[in-house]
Order: sequence, then C-alpha cells, then structure tokens
Amino acid sequence: MQQTTVLVLLASLAASASACARQQPQVLAPVRVASPEADAPASAANAATPYLRASDNEFFPTSRMDWPGPNAFRSANGAAGPGYWQQRADYTIAATLDTAAQTVSGTVRVRYTNNSPDTLRFVWLQLDQNLYRSGSEGSVLYPAESRWGVRGFQGGYDLRDVTVNGKPATPKLDDTRMRLDLDAPLRPKGGVATIAMAFSFRVPEHGSDRMGRDSTLYEIAQWYPRMAVYDDVRGWNTDPYLGQGEFYLEYGDIEYSVTAPAGYVIAGSGVLQNPQQVLTAAQRERLARAAKSQDVVQIITASESRPTPTPGTKTWRFRAENVRDVAWAGAPDFRWDAVSTGPIQGNRTGVLSQAYYSWPRAGAGWEHGAENGQWTIRLYSELVYPYPYPQATSVAGPVGGMEYPMFVMVHYAEEPQGAFGTIDHEHGHEWFPMIVGSNERRYAWMDEGFNTYINAFSNERRKANTPAADSVFAGYVANWRAARDAGLDVPLMTRPDNIDPRALGALGYRKPGAVLLTLRNHVVGRETFDAAFRDYTRRWAFKHPTPADFFRTVENAAGEDLSWFWRGFFYTNDVLDIGVGPVTASQRDGETYATVPLTKYTSIPFPVEMRLAFADGSTADVRLPVYVWAKGDRFDAMIPVKGPVTGVRLWPDPSVPDWNASNDAWGRPPAAGRLAPVTGGGLAAPTAAATP
Ligand SMILES: [Zn+2]
Repeated sequence: MQQTTVLVLLASLAASASACARQQPQVLAPVRVASPEADAPASAANAATPYLRASDNEFFPTSRMDWPGPNAFRSANGAAGPGYWQQRADYTIAATLDTAAQTVSGTVRVRYTNNSPDTLRFVWLQLDQNLYRSGSEGSVLYPAESRWGVRGFQGGYDLRDVTVNGKPATPKLDDTRMRLDLDAPLRPKGGVATIAMAFSFRVPEHGSDRMGRDSTLYEIAQWYPRMAVYDDVRGWNTDPYLGQGEFYLEYGDIEYSVTAPAGYVIAGSGVLQNPQQVLTAAQRERLARAAKSQDVVQIITASESRPTPTPGTKTWRFRAENVRDVAWAGAPDFRWDAVSTGPIQGNRTGVLSQAYYSWPRAGAGWEHGAENGQWTIRLYSELVYPYPYPQATSVAGPVGGMEYPMFVMVHYAEEPQGAFGTIDHEHGHEWFPMIVGSNERRYAWMDEGFNTYINAFSNERRKANTPAADSVFAGYVANWRAARDAGLDVPLMTRPDNIDPRALGALGYRKPGAVLLTLRNHVVGRETFDAAFRDYTRRWAFKHPTPADFFRTVENAAGEDLSWFWRGFFYTNDVLDIGVGPVTASQRDGETYATVPLTKYTSIPFPVEMRLAFADGSTADVRLPVYVWAKGDRFDAMIPVKGPVTGVRLWPDPSVPDWNASNDAWGRPPAAGRLAPVTGGGLAAPTAAATP
C-alpha cells in the first residue's frame, strides 16, 4: 500500500502552515464516528447497469483453476514451488515453401519429455491450420469476413506418416486438436517419446490476422503440429483454436529449415545457422558491422531489394533455444536493416534488432523499424526483465500485428513513426507470453493486459512532453468505457473466445492495462508494485504461471490481502464509483473536526484519496484505507482540521478510474488535477541507456 492505515495529511499542509498546524503531528489518528449501516441508495445510472458475478456466467472458469490452494508445485507466496515441473518439447522441422502451389510442407519430429509425476498413455497436439478446414469450429463461430474469420478459404493440414518412437501411430483428429495414443506408457519424471509426422497445408491469404500472404510475401506461423501443454492445474490443455484466443505452448529448443525459391530472403525466429550458404559476402560483412553498431546498418538496401529471378532453391537453417514457438517470413523484395541495442542488462554483447520489409510496398515508416525495435528491447530489458534472446526481428506485411519468439509481424506503415506503436506492442509480447509462458487461450489479461501495461511505460517515455504522453492512461479508460457503454463489458477472467470481438481491444488489452496502473499507483504503491512485477516476471520466466501466482506475488510484496481488488476488477465487470457529500463541522475537546460523508455506489471498494479546501485558499490531502468500506457502503470520515472546510474533491491525482465524476466534488472544490503521465516514480525509472 502507498500509506499505512491511518489518516495522513500530505504536502499541501506546509503551504498554509499556521501555528496550529505546526503543532499537529504529521500523522493523525483517524477519529471514527458511527456511520449509518443502511446501504446507500444506488444512483439511477448505476442501478441501470447490472454487473456480472462469476456465478452469473456459465462459461466462467471455476475458481479451482484460478486460485488453487498452495501446494508443492505452486507456493503460497506466488513463486514456483519446490516440486514445480514442466514438460519439454524439442522440435526438428524441415519445411519447403512452394510459391507456385502456395503451400508449406515438411516433416516435424518432436522429442517430448514427460517431467510430470504422472504416467501418460496419450498426448495431445495442436493443429491450428485446421481452422481453415471446411466447417471448423472457428469458422462457425467467427463471421467469415471478420478479423478471425477464414474468408471462405479452405485449407487445413494434410498429415501423413505419423509415428511414435518410430512405430506407425493412428491419430484421433478433433478439429484443431489431435490425440495420439502411445503404444507404451510414457513414464513420469523424465520419460521421452519421439513423435514424428509429415505435414502440408495451403497458405491462406488471410490467416486470421496471425499469418498469411500478400502476393509474393509469405508470413508463416501456426505452421507445424505443436504439443499441447500438460500442466499441474488442468492436465492436458486442449481448448481448441477458434481464432480469437491465442496460444499455450511448451518450451524447448527448435531447429528448423526452410527451403524456398533461391531469390527469396527468409527471416525467422532464432539464429541463422548457415549464413555462408544463403547470404552474400557483403551481407555477412554488413551484419557483422550491425552487431557492433548502435546506428542502423542496411543489410539489403533499397536498390538491392528489387526481385531478381533466380533459378533453383536455397535452404535457410535456423535454431531457437528456450522458446515456445517459431515463425518465419519470406519475400523476394525485402529491404533488411539491423542495429544492435548495445549492452543491456544481462547481455553485454547486445541484441540485434532487425527489420525486413518489402520495398516500397511496406511504406516509409519501416525505414525506422529496426530503431523502433531497438528502443523497445532496450526499454523493457531495463524496466521488466533482460531480453534473453540474441536477436529481435520485425517483418512488415498484411498481418496487423502478431508476436512469436524473437519475431513479430507488423502492418505496413507510410508515416515516419507509423509502425512504432505496433512494433513496440508486438515486441512487448516477448516478455508476455514468450518469456513468461502463461495460458493465452484462457487469460488475455496475463498476455495482452500485461503487455498493454508495460506499453504505457514505453509510450509515455517515447512521447515525453507531448499531449500523447499525457493521454495514455485516459485512452485506456476511454476504450474500456466505450466497451461498457456498448454493453460488451465482461469480467477480465472471461476466456478470450467468449469476449465479443468488438470489445477485445478494450477488455483484453486496455482495461487490464488501466486496472494494473491503478493497482500500482493507488493501491500497492509504485516501488513495491514495480518490484513485485519484476519478481513475477523473473520467477515465472520460461514457466507457466496461473492468475493465482500473480495475485499471490503481489499480495506478498504488498503485505495486503487484495481479494477485494481481484474480485472487483477481475472477477466482476463492475466499476468504481465513490461519491462525496456535504461536509459538516463540529468541535470536540477544543479541536475542530470536519465530517466528510462518503458513499460507495457500486460493489467495488477502494482507498479514498481526497483534497480538502479551506477558506484561506489552502488545501490538505487525505487518504483513507480501503477498509473504511468493510462495514457498509457509507463512511463518515471525521478529520481534525484547522478551520472550516469549504470544498472537497476526490482523486486529486485523477488517474483513478472512478466511473462517475459528477459526485466526486462538493462545495467550492480544489481545481481538478491534470491527468499526467502515470508511469513515473517507483523503481521503474529508465536508465540513461533507455532514454532517448
Ligand atoms: Zn498483443
């Protein structure tokens, strides 16, 4: 918490210090008076806005998933427990891009290690390309022309030669899922099974905004059969791929090769293993220079990016370590820029930020793509957790914005910094969920929400001293309000596929972003929250956290039971509305007291921050702990004052998402505070290296 549970008169007192005030101790004990027990009347506006509780929604996940009791696997303090285990999936993939047939085909071999304490008799794999099979569940649920829709495309996997440990196996296919029975049980704590198969699929032009192609440019993801996650909270995680819900994947090392027309350049997750075979001597020399340069080096210039017909094929080999996935892109007309971040926390040699963009189709904004990525990797390494991979690639294309380990796809951009926001967001996903491997298909807020939260830090710094920096938080809340006004608001715990697509940006991204900023700035306190957020990231790097692991980490750091916060903002879709009424004065033992009546109009309690105005023009700030709401929706705060209170304003720092401003002031209130950047203070100040 920012303050302890006593009333504190803050800095403004000094400006008007009278003899009386000087004799007052800085910390004053609250004077409790009996407050009415009856529920306060709900305002008409709030009465008309019902909110959902977990029990009102039959699709709501049951609490055993979100708040399991602490056990050997997950500790009560939010860390992984002494018995924590996790499966491992190492892949070897060889694929061919056929640009005439518009197909990707190849073979995949998975070395799957069962580290669980359970004997496994079958495994589940994810077959995301089957979204494009005629009649798939996703194609039924999402309109064909929508963002996640299949646009009438018919594709899906053609699978052959499925084997387990070298013996033919018969998979059971169910839409985007495949169950594979093992002929011999996979023993616990280290048993290994090798699963192999050949696959091919037609590449959709519109791959549900997560992959696709644009003429000769191919952006390839969800492209090989991947292991489903087996974990200690649900066993096999088999939620199908429908389009809107993203992914949940095991970690391992992935070696893959892409054979493509010889005139193509392939960009991908991981590190290129055979530059001698696929790059020119000039390109290799420029790359070596870029690895040591904090100014952008052009690896393929504009004039070199013109496609030249070249017979035959080339095979590009990549290796990615400690990743949950890989993706790649290929085109015959890429420009390619690269730049080093220079030394960053935990990485003395720096990270290579790369931008690949078809020229001139991608737009001039992409000439800043490599620098945009450099900024992002530096900043989040300083603020959150050191970027652990050697490179970070951004590719321009028809996909609006999609993230994979070390590799993101971002829309074309004409404006000079037109791609920055999306490049920053997509590379922000390298922290959530690429490093911290949560279950995106269940919890958008642990992925998009955490990312949107850290994006506020980046955008406020990038746009410092401009109106854009002042409006980041306001923008988040405005988006949340729009979704609520449209009747689309649902609890943050709602699975992404059950959120109305029109409200996904508001509820999956900006509402949790605003809620986390509120938690940091008004409940836990900046330094404490920043440290807890870093702890959570470090503790769960390359692991599978659940919501409870985050909640417990924050509660342990704050020393507070924050059930009321999680319940209000995560498990219901209610909003905050606290109001202030007419202040009265009284005398007791020769002292003057102001009685400030406060009312809570919704189900969400919150610590009260207010600024009192006095007749002499001075002000005093008061903070009340959240527990003032423990006995009801009305609280009369009795505050020792130096003279009559002439006005009150709630939330002198206005970055509190109180939904109804009309009851936040009384009398002649102090001027409303200006909404300023909200990510300052705490431990999160960027170092010089991350400052422009
Ligand atoms: Zn995102």
